[in-house]
Amino acid sequence: MRFPVSVISLLTGYLFKKKLTGQKKFPMVMMLEPLHACNLTCTGCGRIREYKDTINEVVAVEDCLKAVDTSDTPVVVICGGEPLVYGNIVELVNKLLERKKQVYVATNAMFLERRLKEFTPNSRFFFAIHLDGLEETHDMLVERKGVFKMAIDAIKAAKKAGFQVTVNTTIYKETDMDEIDLMLGYLDTLGVDGYMVSPAGAYSSVQTQEIFMTKTDVREKFKNVDKMMKKYRMHNTPIFMEFLQGKRELSCAAWGVPTYNPKGWKGPCYLMTDAHYGSYQELVEKTDWSKYGPGKDKRCDNCMVHVGYDPVAFLALRGSLIQRMRDTVKMFMWQFFAPNNASRMRDDAVVPLPPRRPVPQSQMELHPVKLENFFAEPVAR
Ligand code: SF4
Repeated sequence: MRFPVSVISLLTGYLFKKKLTGQKKFPMVMMLEPLHACNLTCTGCGRIREYKDTINEVVAVEDCLKAVDTSDTPVVVICGGEPLVYGNIVELVNKLLERKKQVYVATNAMFLERRLKEFTPNSRFFFAIHLDGLEETHDMLVERKGVFKMAIDAIKAAKKAGFQVTVNTTIYKETDMDEIDLMLGYLDTLGVDGYMVSPAGAYSSVQTQEIFMTKTDVREKFKNVDKMMKKYRMHNTPIFMEFLQGKRELSCAAWGVPTYNPKGWKGPCYLMTDAHYGSYQELVEKTDWSKYGPGKDKRCDNCMVHVGYDPVAFLALRGSLIQRMRDTVKMFMWQFFAPNNASRMRDDAVVPLPPRRPVPQSQMELHPVKLENFFAEPVAR
């Protein structure tokens, strides 16, 4: 995750404080899920399936803030579910910004255009829009036609209104990396500020397990990602990218990106749920971290997700002194000298479409959510 200069100074102070106090496990990025309800039923989403019994529950703003305050997290990603379905999202974002946090709203963008005017641009605030491919592919993966176009319109509107926008892309077994390259090139023309790609985490609650990759598949899929790093403003760290390519090993640091949701702090990680805890401290202390990671728990064997491994790039530059110095220079170059083709939005951008693929019928009826419980106006699905 790339940070503005104001946040880098805050983060440096944060890391220094943790070093001074000898705290070994602490959060870098908090995944805050104020609700699990969503206006889509994406094929690869574990949340709407795992939490279907509590899908209508929400966390009150004050409880979200208490969780952020007690964990002392510098970066907060508000996700879910769909955070723009959460009625108090604007209040939550504003209160986090008042606390000098870097805030991302991770959204499928279906409600973004209609809610945009409620937000105010800020250098520490981003809309992180989910796009898994060009039109046919994305609409197939989210199981609804027209979502890609809505997301593109929302990106254009957000950029015009002065907001920062990043795009998050999940890479599945069938993902065509050339199509992702094409998509990022197109998004650059819309002025998108950065990109994050991550292999899909294999949620056990997702029925279509064949969409997920083994470690060997991931390495094959990411083997040419260097070219992407040179071309686009990637928010993944270069160290995490080397891990995805199989050029280096990293150990899981899931405690660095904890998840808080209506049930509490989810342990051990964003992907797996063995327990929920009342506080971040409890999550860290009561989880036996030595039991998790590849070779220790079979559910972890093929895991290479950024929520487990990307924070390590910041927290644990390991190896010889020379290796650590090289890595530090690499991180510095990535932070300050990444390509930036996205400074100007062009109105004449044309979406290049890949070959058509069949789009399965929406499975919305499998996960009935009363959106009117969360959203004051009538909601069109
Ligand atoms: S390796 Fe880490 S992030 Fe991945 S599933 Fe296991 S505990 Fe979770």
